[in-house]
Parts: sequence; structure tokens; C-alpha cells
Amino acid sequence: MKKLLVFLSLAISFQAFTQSSIVYDVVLSGGRVIDPETKLDAIRNVGIINHRIAQITSEPLKGKEVINVSGLVVAPGFIDLHVHGRTNVEQEYQLHDGITTALELEWGIENLKEWYALRQSKALINYGASVSWPYERFKALNQDEKLLKDLLEASRKGESNLGNVQDKTRHTYTLPVDPNQQQRVLENIKTSLAEGGIGIGVPIGYLPKTNPDEMYRVFQFAGQINALVFSHVRNPDIISIQEVIADAVLTNAPLHIVHINSMSLGNIHLSLDMVDTAKDKGFDITTELYPYTAASTALQSAMFDEGWQQRLGISYGDLQWVATGERLTRETFETYRKTGGAVIIHLMKPEWIKVGISASGVMIASDGMGYSKLAHPRTAGTFSRVLGKYVREDKVLDLTTAIEKMTLLPAKRLESISPMMRFKGRIQVGADADITVFNPNIVIDKATFESGLEFSNGIEFVIVNGIFVLKNGKTVSGVAPGLPVYGKFKK
Ligand SMILES: [Zn+2]
Repeated sequence: MKKLLVFLSLAISFQAFTQSSIVYDVVLSGGRVIDPETKLDAIRNVGIINHRIAQITSEPLKGKEVINVSGLVVAPGFIDLHVHGRTNVEQEYQLHDGITTALELEWGIENLKEWYALRQSKALINYGASVSWPYERFKALNQDEKLLKDLLEASRKGESNLGNVQDKTRHTYTLPVDPNQQQRVLENIKTSLAEGGIGIGVPIGYLPKTNPDEMYRVFQFAGQINALVFSHVRNPDIISIQEVIADAVLTNAPLHIVHINSMSLGNIHLSLDMVDTAKDKGFDITTELYPYTAASTALQSAMFDEGWQQRLGISYGDLQWVATGERLTRETFETYRKTGGAVIIHLMKPEWIKVGISASGVMIASDGMGYSKLAHPRTAGTFSRVLGKYVREDKVLDLTTAIEKMTLLPAKRLESISPMMRFKGRIQVGADADITVFNPNIVIDKATFESGLEFSNGIEFVIVNGIFVLKNGKTVSGVAPGLPVYGKFKK
């Protein structure tokens, strides 16, 4: 916050002497500017110089490029804490959904140094990832040297093969890990944090046999160095939510529980109550959700091990095969589980989603998947859906609160692990010029479970680090202003 204030005072004194002669790089003129932190909600002109917001005023501004945005909302660019796509293919859908920063924090990414290097000067929007605990563990235990080499090769080419680690190693989590091995896991995590990882991804739900001792040690380590832990909890039930909260409370590890909707199911009131209570007691624990009643993951994952119908409260017909869109039967389930691939899981009630979206402090995050035409629609429509369906149509929450859940809250969530996030999630002088301009009367998601991914509607302009990436609802070609977001341990 301090830095932002320095910028602010510099900008003010600068402005007092020379405002009339300043020509801004970009001026967004006459829009309804909403800043969830200062509670500004008024018609203003926004002036951008280089990659920062330099002026917000009701006075007219001169600009090299002036865009009239009257009738539109000018909001901080949306920040998505939870995406799995790693390329511009997914980023273009995110861009059309108003996202300016998309981070893979649940699973994290293997070989972070290679990945960050590969995305340099190529990304449409800002990018970053956490350290992947399952990958660091796999590496430390040296479970498959050939696969490890393949993964590094793949990382250098920009391919993502973390799924292979999951498939190959999830049966090994019952084996004991000795203290030396455990120490190596933690050292690996440390090394990857130094490569810029934003906290630690602990997707234990994919490795549900993990020894509680092993998991507790990761939290303990995170608590010691104050590194944020992102967790997909062990099972979709309250006991699993209690497990991560207990670990966080005992070790002082900051904790973010991902997609509380699909982890709590019908217990969402109770799980949110627990998160709130922990927060009230001073523990740094937060959560997020996506605005859909279906989940999505790989059919070969541990989620569909013996007993899944009981755990999830569903059956074969509630599963939708992403490759074809068909609903599964016992027979096709067995076949596809062997071949592997993504599945959509229809398992939540609309009321649960409403409870989660309207709950104070709960962030919006997409859990967007890698591209596939019939991928879960959250991959393309999460943020517009909240604005169109939940704000405008169903009036579940007001516009400023919705924007806060997509911008300021995720930025603040990350500030302790990634100080550069202090400059995001805000429309304020001195903040990064990551800005989303949308039409509140028409904004809506277009992606569906039936026909697959489509760009959202009503997101009109998106600026990333001062550069237009979306103009009049269309992708601007030939620009790649996305910058890396790093954690505080980056060397
Ligand atoms: Zn997940």
C-alpha cells in the first residue's frame, strides 16, 4: 500500500502544475468507474501513462488515444486465481471474460523456471503459478527418472504433462516417506519458490490417500516461511475442510481453499461458517467458487476411485464426457476411465451456488480447464456469468460487491505472497493499468454444457499493462502485454 501512496502523491503534485498540458497515452472517457477499495462509483475520465493509471478525474483529459466509454463500467481487470490452461488459446477466452491476470495456483506448474521463460513476451494477459507440491514430491522421491526427464523436455516445449505425474504416482501415496525424503520435498519446494512460484499448490483431492503426517509437514513448512497454501481438499466433505483448516490453524500457514462449492456440496453453509470463524479468530484463511452447478476433472483421477457415487451423491448419468458431450453409462464409464479424458460432473444444486456467491469474502475463480471445444463452460464464462446472471438477472449480489470478489479480494489474497499484487485489483492513481470495460446491461456468458466454449458477451475493452488487448469486443492482434506474476521468494 505504501508504494501506491507514494505514486499517488507524486501524481498529485505532478498534476497540480501540469495537468492541462499532459497528454496521456490512453484516456478512457466518461465511463462509470468502480473501484471496490475506495468505493468510488462515479462517471470519471481515466488517464493512462505507460503501464500505470496516472489520472482519474471528472475534468476532460487529453490523450494520444481517447476512447469514449460512456454507458460502460470501467473496473479493475478481473483476477482469476484458478486456471489450468497454460497458453494463449485459453487466455483469449479469459480475455473475452474480462480477465487480465490468470494464475494456476491449485495444481501449480512443474519446472517453473522453464514455464515462466517460455511465456515471456508471449502472453495476452498476466500469468503466474504456484509451486506444485505433487511434482516436487515426485521429483524428491525419484519415482521415475525417465518420466522426470520427459517432463523437463515437455516443459521446455511448453507442453503440460503434470497429469502423467498424477496418474503414475497416486498409488504411491500410501507408501511411507522417511524424514530425509520429506526434507528433500521441502527443499525442492523452496527451490521452486525461488524460481518465482506463488505459494504452494496442494491438490490433495487428487491424491486422497496422502498420509496426514506428510500433508501436515507441508503446512508446517508453509507456516514457517509464510507461504500461501492452495488446497483442493481431500474429499468433497466437511471433514476434509476441517482437516485443512486444522493444519492451517496449527501451523499458521496462510490457506486458500479452492472451489468451496464442489468441496462442500450440501454443507456449504457449514463450510463457509468455518472459514469465517477461522478468519474472525485472526487466521489467514480464504476461499473461492465458480458459478456453475457442475464440476469437471479427469475421469481417470482418484475422484472416481471405488465409492465415487456415494462420495459425490451421483451416478453414471450425471457424468458428461467432454470429447463427445454424451452422458455416461456403467459401460462407457469403464471404457473411458481406461483411455482417460475430461468429464463434466453434474452434482450441485443452484441454491448452493447462490449461497456461496453471495457470502461475504468469497472470491470468484474459474477453475478453467485446458482448451477443448466441449470443456466445462467455466473455462470461458465464469466472470461474465456472475455479472450477467447473478448480478443483473437474479440480483443475488450488487455490482460493486461482484467486482470486489473478482478484483480487490483476489489481489489482497495474494499480497502477502506476491507484493506486486498491491498494484492490481484497483482503479487508483498509481495502480497497474489492468482495466476491464464492460456493458452491465448485456454482459453474459455464452459458453454452455451442450455446445461448449464461446467468448462471453458484453466485455468491450480490456487493457493489460496499459495496452489494449480487447477493443470493441474483439481481440487485438499482434500484442502480448501479459507480464509474469511472481511470488516474494523469487531470486
Ligand atoms: Zn480442483
